[in-house]
Amino acid sequence: MIRSFLAACLVAACLLVSWQPAGAADGKTHVLWLGQAAAKITTPGGKVIVIDPFLVKNPKTPAKYKDLSALGHVDLILVTHAHFDHVADAPALAKLNKAPMWGPPGMADTFVTLGVLPAELAPRMNKGGQAHPLGPDITITMVRAEHSSELKWVDPMTGKEQLFNGGQPCGWIITMENGFKLYHMGDTGLFGDMQLIADYYKPQLIMIPIGGHFVLSPVDAAYATNTWLKPKFAIPIHYATIPVLKGTPAEYMQALGSGSGTKVFPINPGDELTF
Ligand SMILES: [Zn+2]
Repeated sequence: MIRSFLAACLVAACLLVSWQPAGAADGKTHVLWLGQAAAKITTPGGKVIVIDPFLVKNPKTPAKYKDLSALGHVDLILVTHAHFDHVADAPALAKLNKAPMWGPPGMADTFVTLGVLPAELAPRMNKGGQAHPLGPDITITMVRAEHSSELKWVDPMTGKEQLFNGGQPCGWIITMENGFKLYHMGDTGLFGDMQLIADYYKPQLIMIPIGGHFVLSPVDAAYATNTWLKPKFAIPIHYATIPVLKGTPAEYMQALGSGSGTKVFPINPGDELTF
């Protein structure tokens, strides 16, 4: 009897040691790339932020993440613009977690007007603004991106896909509890204010699109990285999801050259990095 009680205690103790809730605070920033521009960020304090959730129909997303509940609890959703390969699962994820979806204000307004999201899950801010939806220790900053943001959505009144106002595209800088800054650039071409963003916000890690055609090519991305942004770390994203996104991490790294001060992580969807 005592022996089985002790065994049960031992099992319970092991569970306590090995069990970590999703989004456990370990003092580090975790970046889980999920294909295209989608990423799950766990902050040093354990908050979970999902950026550009295009998962269910994303051919590059690992199968297990096509179930939105597999992300665990999500505290905040950030969307860079209203194109399907960025916003597709955002409203569903917001409702599943009762977590706010921050994105271009025009896009937020459209989702509220269409009845897709209640206003409290689609708050408004704009480029150049900062907000603290997760408390004072984490800052989100909306910055410029050179792209467009039409919203194609099934109109609940007609049942047909229609084009709506999706506001203007943006990038997001997340300043973590320990000051570490991640700049998710969204979809963008080159623009000179990348220099301003680098000088003013000084992000250490960029998630940079490299596929070309709709966004930076590997050569464009290397120019922005070496000339303006000069981050410590870069994760190339938004390539190979569809055939026209031809740019590769190898081309990006070759264009950066051996003298670049930026360390590139050419990871695969489903890989997680810790900073
Ligand atoms: Zn895109």
